[in-house]
This record gives sequence, C-alpha cells and structure tokens, in this order.
Amino acid sequence: MKKKILIIHTGGTISMVENKSTGEVTTATKHPLSELTYYFNPYADVEEMIEFSLPSPHIEPKHMLQLATRIKKELPSYEGIVVTHGTDTLEETAYFLDLIIKTDKPIILTGAMRSSNEIGSDALYNLISSIRVASDDNATKKGVLVVMNDEVHTARNVTKTSTSNIATFQSPQFGPLGIVTKDSIIFHHTITSRYCYNVDAIDKRVFLLKAYAGMDSGLLEAVLKAQPDGLVIEGLGQGNLPKELVPSLKRIINSQLPIVLVSRCFQGIVQPTYGYEGGGRNLKELGIIFSNGLTGPKARIKLQIALAQTKDLTMLKEIFEQEN
Ligand code: ASP
Repeated sequence: MKKKILIIHTGGTISMVENKSTGEVTTATKHPLSELTYYFNPYADVEEMIEFSLPSPHIEPKHMLQLATRIKKELPSYEGIVVTHGTDTLEETAYFLDLIIKTDKPIILTGAMRSSNEIGSDALYNLISSIRVASDDNATKKGVLVVMNDEVHTARNVTKTSTSNIATFQSPQFGPLGIVTKDSIIFHHTITSRYCYNVDAIDKRVFLLKAYAGMDSGLLEAVLKAQPDGLVIEGLGQGNLPKELVPSLKRIINSQLPIVLVSRCFQGIVQPTYGYEGGGRNLKELGIIFSNGLTGPKARIKLQIALAQTKDLTMLKEIFEQEN
C-alpha cells in the first residue's frame, strides 16, 4: 500500500521561477511545484501545504520553531514529511528540526539550486527523490534527513559547499548516509545515537565568530559589551585561538557567558591538544566548551536549544558532549 506523505513548502529557489527576460529568480504567484500529483502518484499518496514563502536567508529560529510545531501536529496523520526549503540555511533548519522532533518517521528536507523553469532544474527531481526516500521503510529511525542530487545526508553532518553547483550538499565528516538510484534507496551508513530536546520558545541570542590569523580582541570586547546569551567561535585547526584573545575570553567566561568552540576547518573535530597560550588545552582549562564536529552555524543552533534547557555551564558541556 502507498504511504501517506505530506509536503510542506517554506520557499527558496525550489519554490521560485526565473523571469526569462531579466534572469531574476523570484517567488511566483502560484507555487511551481504544487498540484503535481501525477509525478508523485507512483510513489506515495501526497498532500501538500504552504507554511511560508520565504527565501531562506529570511528564515529565523522562530520560523524553524513554527515549522517544528506544524510537523509535530501533522505527523500523526502521515507516514513521512517532506519540507521544501531554500538551500542557503537549509542545513540549519534541518538540524534544528532534528534536535527537537522526536519521531521514528522520516522527515526529509530538500531544495533546489535551479528554479523550476530553468534549464537543468533540480527542483522537481529533488522533490520526487525526497518523496521516494520519505516512503522508504529503511528511512525510518534516522532523524531528519536532507535529500539532494541523488544523495541522502544526515541533518547533523550535511552542509552547503558550493554557491551554485547542484552537487552542493555534502557531508564532509562521514559522507552521505545513502544514495537514491533509479530503482531504490540504498543506505550504507546508520545513525548510532540521537538526542532530542523540548523547546517551547527560542529567544536566546547566540553570536558566531570566525577566528583568523592576527585576530585581536576587538570583536570579543564588542561581544562582552553586547552581552548575548552565548557565543560560538570557529577556531583554528584542532581548536586553537590567537593568544591575544585569551584575556577577553577569560572575561567572557567570568561573566557566565558560555563559549562553544568548533573548528573553521570543514572536516575533523576540535580537541584539546596544544598547551600553548590560546591552544586547545589552554582553552579547555579556561572553561570553553568543545563541540564534536559541528559547523559553526549548527553549533550556534545547538547552543540556542541547549540554552532553552539550562544556563548551567556543566550541563551545557554535557549537552555538547552528546553525539548529535
Ligand atoms: N537564496 C536561495 C534560498 O536559500 C537559494 C536556494 O534556495 O537555493 O532561499
């Protein structure tokens, strides 16, 4: 029997069309991928709804929370959900949903690099692939997945790597979880653990900074002044920072503001290896929280969610030591 799948549209290029005379890609009055049941029929019984029509740079955590609430409400009536989303912030929404929706049912996010009427558009193709994955028995118990360009990725690991190439979504740490072929969906990895958190409101301000050679304390002092609820720093290599930052880092930590460290490298995890001033070992001793393998934007999402649970630094550290 065919499974019942719900498509929730949120906007992005997959919901847009190209103006053939100006080349501009914009939202259409009628959604270009709605009422295409003819294409979906062979795979599933599909229903659809529009939650937002936003380019994904306009998506904020409050939209992610609204989407999560919608998905939780609709899930009992469907066997899987497909969310269409702009690709720019798709990985953040996917990870947000992964952290707060506790379900075994497949939730798939997809998008497109070329809008529906552009030559070589990947919009309809990615949507059909996502419906196929959402209807596949093996797609259950894997958390939120991202399906693009014949690949299936975990929300935790996937990231947009190219501004325009349709093979933009990659999982640099471990590769994709599976692939989409003409006949079937083949999963070759599995998920070892998953943690979900209850979130009713998402209102914590978390800043994200990227470290660079010669960075001085100006930005950290500005952070201290702004007093956000948390800070994520994309450090150098295995998790090191210029020594000039150490006095400001100490002041930030003394003000009870949690700092989470990730690496600006696109692969690998941060480790307290180096003992020199500003080295990872030194930073860990100062009380900086190490995140295992998340990108900066995802560590920021996780810190926002973690801060909705607790402000206690030890508990925040434990949350970041958990796998996803
Ligand atoms: N700028 C677009 C967005 O993220 C890009 C896309 O959807 O591919 O909404």
